[in-house]
Amino acid sequence: MHDRLAPGSLPPVARSRRSRQTRRPLTRRVVAITGGARGLGLAMAEAISARGAHVALGDLDADLAAAEAAKLPSGAIGLSLDVTDPRSFKTFIETVEERLGPVDALVNNAGIMVCEPFLEEPESLTRRQIEINVHGVITGMRLVIPGMQRRRTGHVINIASAAGKVGVAGEAVYVATKHAVVGLSEAVRYELLGTGVELSVVMPGLANTELASGMSAGRGVKLVEPEEVAAAVVGTLEQPRFEVYVPGSLGPLFRFAAVLPRSARDLMNRMFQTDQIATKVDKTARAMYAARASSGMPPVDPPPPPSDPEQRVMETEAS
Ligand code: NAD
Repeated sequence: MHDRLAPGSLPPVARSRRSRQTRRPLTRRVVAITGGARGLGLAMAEAISARGAHVALGDLDADLAAAEAAKLPSGAIGLSLDVTDPRSFKTFIETVEERLGPVDALVNNAGIMVCEPFLEEPESLTRRQIEINVHGVITGMRLVIPGMQRRRTGHVINIASAAGKVGVAGEAVYVATKHAVVGLSEAVRYELLGTGVELSVVMPGLANTELASGMSAGRGVKLVEPEEVAAAVVGTLEQPRFEVYVPGSLGPLFRFAAVLPRSARDLMNRMFQTDQIATKVDKTARAMYAARASSGMPPVDPPPPPSDPEQRVMETEAS
């Protein structure tokens, strides 16, 4: 294979390694972020625009996206976007390109999480998670990558999760969607080697946003702050690499756990109480988020607390 390469050129894998070493300033780059109106997406927008990039926030909550964009420097814009609707996604990208220029980077960040035991999760929410968390990412990549390939430059960052590498009871379908994003990213990355287009997958642990309300990160484990995820995304845009864990210590931890026998992994799961992250959830604290995730917009009236106080803290596994 390699003997067919031109003298002095590098095979795709080596080229990819070399590109990692080159710092690429964000100044004047056009970065589109899905689900950018709040949470991790907004923190990324703040950090990226502070580096002089032109940021476009796309969100179901278009008013909030516009209001947040107005607070950002460097001519940020906030637009309506539903990642589950290919026409909406296409219009979003076209509008960004008309107003800011060709998309240099797309951050596929929009996502929702449903915490329910697998057999009890409503089918509509199962489909909604798959549509947003997986199909939205597929649509985004298919819309921007052809232009990036023509320009021989560009970067797609898919926001998966630590749940893309491990199983977590109580959020099985969410886990499945994030595993899908990790696998999809790895496969597409291979297709993109040597094209000038970078692809990264970012895997944060449980982070301090509305998505994690009512949940705890496990024994002795701190919630990740949105600014930490944002800093990791900035670092990845400046120096592309494929797999990015936040915090970085998750990578070695998962690699270590992967070589352990299943019984030892089960023990670790119980020791760190990761078996309780999504099975012991404060449903009252989570009610606002759950209502927004299922309908797309924050509820006008706050949802009533669960009627049975016993139900407020849901324990689906015998402790
Ligand atoms: P969030 O709920 O705070 O923000 C998500 C944003 O996405 C919201 O503004 C929402 O309106 C928007 N959105 C939802 N559906 C959309 C759609 N169909 N089209 C366009 N926008 C849509 O959540 P977050 O915590 O900021 O999560 C962002 C991403 O990070 C998600 O993909 C999530 O799975 C991932 N993640 C979150 C955590 C965490 O603990 N918060 C951990 C790891 C990964």
